[in-house]
Amino acid sequence: MRFTNLFAPTTKEAPKDATLPSHKYLVRAGFVSQYGSGLYNFLPMGKIVLDKIRDIVKEEMDSSGACEIQMGVVTPAELWKQSGRYNAFGKELLRLHDRKNNDFVLGPTHEEVVVDIVRNRINSYKQLPLHLYQITTKFRDEGRPRYGLLRGREFIMKDGYSFHKDEESMKVEFDKMETTYRKIFTRLGLDFRAVDADSGAIGGSGSKEFMVLADNGEDDIIVCNNCEYAANIEAAKRAKKTTTVEAPEADAAKFHTPNCITIDDVAEFFKIDSFYTTKAVIKKAIYEDREEVVLFIVRGNDNLQETKAQNACGALELVDATEQEVKDAGLVAGSCGPIGLPEDINFYIDSELKDEKNLICGANEHEYHFVGAGMFNFKDSRYIDLVEVSAGDKCACCGGELGVTKGIEVGHIFQLGQKYAAAMEATFLDENGKSQAFYMGCYGVGVSRLVAVMIEASHDERGCIWNRQTTPFELDIIVSNVKNEEELEYGEKLYKTFKDSGIEVLLDDRKDRFGPKIKDFELIGFPYALILGKGLKEGNVELVDRKTLEKTTISVDDVESKIKELLA
Ligand code: ATP
Ligand code: MG
Repeated sequence: MRFTNLFAPTTKEAPKDATLPSHKYLVRAGFVSQYGSGLYNFLPMGKIVLDKIRDIVKEEMDSSGACEIQMGVVTPAELWKQSGRYNAFGKELLRLHDRKNNDFVLGPTHEEVVVDIVRNRINSYKQLPLHLYQITTKFRDEGRPRYGLLRGREFIMKDGYSFHKDEESMKVEFDKMETTYRKIFTRLGLDFRAVDADSGAIGGSGSKEFMVLADNGEDDIIVCNNCEYAANIEAAKRAKKTTTVEAPEADAAKFHTPNCITIDDVAEFFKIDSFYTTKAVIKKAIYEDREEVVLFIVRGNDNLQETKAQNACGALELVDATEQEVKDAGLVAGSCGPIGLPEDINFYIDSELKDEKNLICGANEHEYHFVGAGMFNFKDSRYIDLVEVSAGDKCACCGGELGVTKGIEVGHIFQLGQKYAAAMEATFLDENGKSQAFYMGCYGVGVSRLVAVMIEASHDERGCIWNRQTTPFELDIIVSNVKNEEELEYGEKLYKTFKDSGIEVLLDDRKDRFGPKIKDFELIGFPYALILGKGLKEGNVELVDRKTLEKTTISVDDVESKIKELLA
């Protein structure tokens, strides 16, 4: 490609709302253009990178035995009603209707459509397993589209769906996909971890996320310093918290606790360790058809993990309850506890508190707390994992110390079980001639998000630093001054030679000065530049390594062999 033919509108201006390097550089280097909130066009170089990532994903998916298809984006709402997700998916689902007032959705994910493809076409266990995937556009009306391609509303995903006769076969495919994803992210040159994950609105049982470790990640990942354990904080487990500090003793006595609002106030008042206090977090749970105030109880020196809390009560969303809502529910903020609550209040207790005694908890009376309370007399379904694991907690697998690190989710694999097939009556005949709902798995890769992730993983203060696997061009031949015939002619010759030998080469043949050309090289971030300038008179050119910015002088006699060797 010649730069004079390329549309690469580079600029010094970063978007006003851009805080992350990938967002700034993708726009500044002319890879993408924004045309609405969370909406981006891929310009020529962005498209090359996107296709390279897509090709790697496709190659690995194909070699795993999956079949590529392409489903439509506009989906009849009827399918989503059959699965029960039309209402349950919440605000991210863009609902629309046609001229005849039929309801549709823009596909945010395609379980419903793929089940509809397979149902009545696969009828026997003999036709299973089957894995169908696509690499296409998704639309999610994200509450906060931001960070450029990392969280768009329209984005490109590889989504795969597998169908099985039983759980065992589903698990085999799940493991195969973990291996496939490891190959994909390794080929992309990324530093990643596969972590235990929450399944979110997609549902199902086991799931794993693939996280690229990056300071700017939106996700918190818990990692063990001693074993392989790693999990998204939304799903992280820990060994039960203990203490050597002595417990306060009293027999479920009620104490007046003036001005004790926070956990620290209570601990200070009784001169005890906050380990022995309980914290009651009041939330408003929003369901499809109602809202209600719900209470979550964790140890005083723990925090509530919101995703775990949301899963516990099965709400579409959890929000803070207003003062009035708390009052109306009959709760006393600052003095809430599980004992003596109004009858109709739903509450959950962290499982680590089960059967604990000698606790101090709110007495549900203004400025009163119970001392020596025990968590025995509640039904089992009230106890559920609610705590946010934090740095310094102990690993449940090996006892090692847990730490927190940031990650960007680039892939997510799920074991769905029979959830969708059962809801949508997609069945096959098993070995015994019995009708059964398919077991399914689903597997996503954020293909357009990966374009940004490549830059988050590799950039400096001057711009992007692409690796060879994903760069739009491997070599940028910069003709310093196109008016100098010798320089231009030599540039043309090298360009042809390298192109013929299969190197992805760009010839910067623009009439610009040298300054903007080298600046563009640094901003766009091709791995190498070859500068043809004044040195040519002495028979020399200069090779620049974008990563180190090191310059090496090469004689024109060696340049072809050196470059071919470098980019072999
Ligand atoms: P997140 O927690 O980041 O919103 P998710 O759990 O909603 O992700 P999945 O439904 O598992 O995501 O989708 C599969 C993949 O699609 C994700 O791993 C991610 O890489 C990508 N993805 C999801 N939402 C977006 C988005 N808004 N913009 C770009 N890529 C996205
Ligand atoms: Mg999401």
